[in-house]
Amino acid sequence: MPPLKTSHKSTCCYCGVGCGVVVSRGNNGELTVEGDKTHPSSKGMLCSKGMNLHYTVMDQSDRLLHPQMRLSRGAPMQEVSWDTALERVARVFQTFIRKYGPDSVAFYVSGQCLTEEYYLINKLIKGFIGTNNIDTNSRLCMSSAVVGYKMSLGEDCVPVCYDDIEAADTFLVTGANPAWCHPIIWRRVEAHKAANPGVKIICVDPRRTDTARSADLHLPLRPGTDIVLHHAVGRLLIENGHVDPSFIREHTDGFEAYRQKVMERSTEEAAAICGVELAALLQAAEWIGQARGFLSLWTMGLNQSVIGVDKNLSLINLHLITGQIGKPGSGPFSLTGQPNAMGGRETGGLASLLPGHREVSNAAHRQYMETFWNTPASIAPAPGLTATEMFAALAEDRLKAIWIINTNPMVSMPDMHAVEQAMTKARFVVVQDVSDRADTVRFADVVLPAAAWLEKEGTMTNAERRITHLPKVLDAPGNALPDAEIICRFAAKMGFENAFSYPHISAVYEEYVQCTAGTHIDVSGVSYSELDKQRSIQWPFPAGMKGEERSGTSRLFEDHLFYTKNQKAQLHAVADENASEPADADFPLVLTTGRIRDQWHTMTKTGRVARLNKHIPKPVLQINPQDARERGITDGRLVAVTGRRGQVTVHAQLTADVRPGLVFLPMHWGKMLESDALRTNNLTSSLVDPKSKEPDFKFTAVEVAVFEKP
Ligand code: SF4
Repeated sequence: MPPLKTSHKSTCCYCGVGCGVVVSRGNNGELTVEGDKTHPSSKGMLCSKGMNLHYTVMDQSDRLLHPQMRLSRGAPMQEVSWDTALERVARVFQTFIRKYGPDSVAFYVSGQCLTEEYYLINKLIKGFIGTNNIDTNSRLCMSSAVVGYKMSLGEDCVPVCYDDIEAADTFLVTGANPAWCHPIIWRRVEAHKAANPGVKIICVDPRRTDTARSADLHLPLRPGTDIVLHHAVGRLLIENGHVDPSFIREHTDGFEAYRQKVMERSTEEAAAICGVELAALLQAAEWIGQARGFLSLWTMGLNQSVIGVDKNLSLINLHLITGQIGKPGSGPFSLTGQPNAMGGRETGGLASLLPGHREVSNAAHRQYMETFWNTPASIAPAPGLTATEMFAALAEDRLKAIWIINTNPMVSMPDMHAVEQAMTKARFVVVQDVSDRADTVRFADVVLPAAAWLEKEGTMTNAERRITHLPKVLDAPGNALPDAEIICRFAAKMGFENAFSYPHISAVYEEYVQCTAGTHIDVSGVSYSELDKQRSIQWPFPAGMKGEERSGTSRLFEDHLFYTKNQKAQLHAVADENASEPADADFPLVLTTGRIRDQWHTMTKTGRVARLNKHIPKPVLQINPQDARERGITDGRLVAVTGRRGQVTVHAQLTADVRPGLVFLPMHWGKMLESDALRTNNLTSSLVDPKSKEPDFKFTAVEVAVFEKP
């Protein structure tokens, strides 16, 4: 590792909070990381994961250092030059494209890629290779919120900013555990409440998490009943006169259909369906109704569902009927899971998108990008394969080649045994990653070593639409290269050298921001050098912003003009029935999965840090004592969790923190780190929300029994 001469400001590479960090070399010569007090999102705070970032950088023991490839399945991997590796990939891709068409190849990328990397991959595959087969692991966490925002507000846009936390007086945290998963946002909420005891926090979660414990009111609803609960609150708001009639009249459509829908169930019936106390439901509606600033925070509990979009819409409805949007301290705030999930979508990083949140299905949008990119052929009008569809297509040999970048689907995808079969059958797999620790590397025909955090330069967008610049601080080890450079070198091998020759990463940024001009996410007003100097801005930031506006746009819709065609927000009278796989006599319990405090995704980074592994060293199954007693399970006993697709063997933890009928498993552990027996996604189903294509991770029918050795 070369010497680090000065301190550098960067951004944490884990969750979507996007905390600012200062990286320095301490007196003992070791790398140190501390919170950046000047960063507007985090104000010097870091959580346990952020405070230990430097250990993942210093531990180079499992880094991928050289390109490798095998000549056939089962043959040993051989180190090769970059030219040899990329020429092989180009040859194979060209052969498949010639024989089966461009839809025979795909890229599966990550919310941890930088914006410029996302832009280049999209430009290459959509503009030059000629297929829209690119999707991202953000599909697994954010896509329901994306569709929900678009259907209600007219655009994939978080309307609020973190400073709205200190302006709110009522929080509804639903399907989220920010105390563990977005800790710095949660610290701001807790500090605000400590300074203002009148602030109310309502937590809706079937588990009593740390977030639920510090809430004023916890509603431990039955899994899958979120919409029933949201509609019940909506009904109470209407009945108690807590709606804003002039806002509804002037700025929304669909109120009458919504009113009729929420009146279909009595509040008592809704409380019974949700399995919550009627008094608690009434209290929640009362607090929301009386709020001066109502902020809702949510993540995977709503999104990772077969009805995830409708759950989002039913929550956003509550803001629209009360007019709690577009003013300080109010709005629906989807907490982004990954550091650059939002930046990826800005550049078109989903199978249906083009840069600037344009749509591949829109002829004018395609034409704009064809001209902008000077593409050799037309952009395909049909959306490409989404994340789960890619693996199904590999299994059926409809997709011949997949290039996986900075993500580990062999741990994170649902219905893992089916995905494993698909990857085994795949004709050609390229894996581009930092570490040999990712299970997915085992399935690769070609492995490309990528530069890690601090070893490359570019930008990311956090959960409050804040774009930050990340400088290059360290050289990558061995022959590892920045992802952007790998893509440009590959594009040249494919014959597209002219369109992918950039003197510096800043030129990629400058090209990208120009094509956002005139869109809702316009950032054409901020140059790379200004962003570098200023550290961060919030989009939109069109050309011409000046003076105090030079930090961008903190809050959207202050004029109440939404991004829909008629500029009115849309209320949606969604159905409230769940459509997950049914629990039955064989599989009577509902499994929900999630994150633990000190691990990140599939543990390829955090799993290397001893002090982070101490928190929860092994996965355990949380089960209610009543369910455990009925099955003869005692605390710490090894149990088999069995579902319709597979099994997991873990130790049981008896706790009333999960309601009866519910069990919980963390999602981090994979086969390589431990064994197949600990891989939670052996159990989850391939069901997806039909609108967002996001998997149903939060509802799997299982049975649990004491593990008997075969
Ligand atoms: Fe990093 Fe998220 Fe923790 Fe901030 S809250 S330090 S972004 S993991």
